[in-house]
Amino acid sequence: MRSSKDLTPWLQDRLPEALDLLRRMVETNSWTQNPDGVRRVGDLTEEAFRGLGFKAERVPSSNPEWGPHLVLTRAGTGEGTLACVSHLDTVFPPEEEERNQFHWQPEGDRIYGPGTHDIKGGTLVLWLTLMALREFEPEAFGKVTWKLFWNSSEEMLSPDFETACAQRLGPDTRGVLVFEAEGKGPRGPRLVVARKGRGTWRLRVTGRSAHAGVRPTAGANAIVQLGRLMDRIHAINDESRQLTVNAGLIRGGTGLNRVPQSAEAEGEFRAFTQEAYQHGRDALLALSGPGDVQSPVDGFRCQVEMEILTETAPWPRNPGTDGLFAHWEAAGRDLGIEVGAESRGGLSDGNHLCAHFPTLDGLGPSGDNDHCSERSADGTKLPEYVDRGSFVPKAALNVVALTRWIRSMPS
Ligand SMILES: [Zn+2]
Repeated sequence: MRSSKDLTPWLQDRLPEALDLLRRMVETNSWTQNPDGVRRVGDLTEEAFRGLGFKAERVPSSNPEWGPHLVLTRAGTGEGTLACVSHLDTVFPPEEEERNQFHWQPEGDRIYGPGTHDIKGGTLVLWLTLMALREFEPEAFGKVTWKLFWNSSEEMLSPDFETACAQRLGPDTRGVLVFEAEGKGPRGPRLVVARKGRGTWRLRVTGRSAHAGVRPTAGANAIVQLGRLMDRIHAINDESRQLTVNAGLIRGGTGLNRVPQSAEAEGEFRAFTQEAYQHGRDALLALSGPGDVQSPVDGFRCQVEMEILTETAPWPRNPGTDGLFAHWEAAGRDLGIEVGAESRGGLSDGNHLCAHFPTLDGLGPSGDNDHCSERSADGTKLPEYVDRGSFVPKAALNVVALTRWIRSMPS
């Protein structure tokens, strides 16, 4: 067996190969709605992990316009299954990459490019991690069954990926690791141990139209009613509960000479705990009913209807996640780096999988500016990038933590 002090130099030697693979993935556009590109990134991924003994399965998306999910499996000699999760898609249409000349572009320690950080860089940290684990801890690597999942449509909140994973993960599954990017702590990386859940809502106001100059009092102005409700929605924001509510879209009316008879708004709300989430949900739904804008002619009132459109449950901090995090924290101590924990406002596949298995997220590299493709000459706008220097330390941390975790499993 090789000595663990050789781990970092060994990973450093593998880094050019990993970055070359990453470059090929980044140069392949895999916008969720480009299923051919998503499939090709799946091919590159399958090829990369084949050398580690993984067998591939493609799982069609329930939406026929999206590419297939990718599942790679390697059977272990002992008990216990570990699941790792990443995704194939990005948010960038090919035209946008073209327009903003947004492509693979190393600059100092940063590598700019679509998906470098979200999440193709995470896939390469996973690859480096498993390559090194096999090299340095072959017994631990070979003992467990590995199931690696790539969502084809994570950026569109794919409705079927959770099922695809859950159907392939039995009761011997010890945990799920998500390779989204890490957070940057003051003295080391931060892993993600909780995420906000998210609900989306639509508010519809129905009023009554009238001639704006001749008989406005016969109308009930739906836009005025909607405006009054906006303040009440904003007031549902609650810092003490870490509950956030956002009105993101608004529309209404049909012409300037009419009292508008309809108006609507859409938005979202998010919270870390089920209680805070439910509080926000109830407060939004309570807005339904008769409004306070009415026609003085006959008392006709605007009607307000609030609907919840989609929901993703919160991933609250929990003992399963904390148990996993403890292995990474201890691995950090072995390596002399401080590993922190972070609760994040954005969703990931962890939100879906944490209900089934202990889940830890943020195992990918560091970087910033996810979902941004623009660059301005004065540098006030910069696109997505990954920190090249984060791959090796993160893979080393993952290797040491995985070794600790696998050794702690009853055999
Ligand atoms: Zn994303």
